[in-house]
Amino acid sequence: MSNVLSQQYSKHEKLDQSNRHSVVPVTDWSERQVTYLRVSVTDRCNYLCTYCAPAEGWKASAKKELLQFEEIFAVIQIMAWRGVKRVRFTGGEPLLRRDLCTLIAQVNELPEIEEIAMTTNGHILDRYAEDLFQAGVRRLNVSLDSFDPAIFEAITRGGDLKRVLKGIEQAQKVGFTDIVLNAVLSPELSQTAQVWQSFCEKAWALGVTPRWIEMMPIGGQQAPDIQVSSVIQALQERWDLQTDTNLNCARIARGPARYYTVNDAVYKGKQVGFISPMSDPHFCASCNRARLTARGGLRACLADDREIDLKSALRMGMRGPALSPFIDQAFQGKRPQHLMNQGAPPLNVMTGLGG
Ligand code: SAM
Repeated sequence: MSNVLSQQYSKHEKLDQSNRHSVVPVTDWSERQVTYLRVSVTDRCNYLCTYCAPAEGWKASAKKELLQFEEIFAVIQIMAWRGVKRVRFTGGEPLLRRDLCTLIAQVNELPEIEEIAMTTNGHILDRYAEDLFQAGVRRLNVSLDSFDPAIFEAITRGGDLKRVLKGIEQAQKVGFTDIVLNAVLSPELSQTAQVWQSFCEKAWALGVTPRWIEMMPIGGQQAPDIQVSSVIQALQERWDLQTDTNLNCARIARGPARYYTVNDAVYKGKQVGFISPMSDPHFCASCNRARLTARGGLRACLADDREIDLKSALRMGMRGPALSPFIDQAFQGKRPQHLMNQGAPPLNVMTGLGG
């Protein structure tokens, strides 16, 4: 880390230490407490997944429009003092942001932060896995929708499955034990029982946990009506899947995914996860998350375009508790349930928001 950056950090630490007990947890009007912050560090991506970004017309932000590390750290710090315990770095593709591990290592020093995670497409993970682990990242979600190289390339519009698999292997080598594969139930992929079952087997053979996500109609995308219940049913035809309450409890604290554990001989103990934003009417009931976009917008909900412009406040020099009124404002109007099923999806594209 440069000297200038470390001086800035320690300046803010001193400024804020004196106020840290005066801050209260971030909650919305229905008392859902924010304990999880997703931080998008760039809206640039080296893949252009069909369900995430339009084929044309999407333009990543200029560098000066993105929050600087010191600004991101200031937001994470005040959010941590106000109850955030987990931070996930995402994007765009987070690994495209140069020197990201410097920021992660700083965040790892915050005593309030219990877990640092990352969502990545894995394309350059082999290069960064060790640095990420050293910096304090412990959980990785890798986006991988198909183990067929041609289908993978088509969905990611140019992605290279071999590179992603190499990244996963390297991550495991350097110590990552909790890797989840995110697969979106998109129309590009043939969604059949055989495809889902074979996807599970390949993921388990790699030592990672497959997880399906219902596609959301974000940024004007047409989402198909495929629900995770169809996948669960197909897997149950083949394996005895049990809901593991302990595992679910541990992971519910982290997010809205539900997990099942296989109870049959060959794959006994293997897990599979599901996220059902479109079909679960209670999906938002225990929402504990906030999102910081790469351009400095603070969002209470992925599915709601309303956001508070923290970048302006930061660039006016505000730090620590001075940011609190803006943060509270972002959560005042948080909806009890998203409106994506009612024809009101967010218009911003996913890669700009940080999924
Ligand atoms: N570039 C990284 C990656 O590929 O994982 C991080 C950003 S990406 C926006 C984060 C996650 O958003 C991906 O794992 C993908 O599963 C999810 N995602 C993107 N578009 C989605 C959509 N329309 N519906 C559901 N999930 C989506």
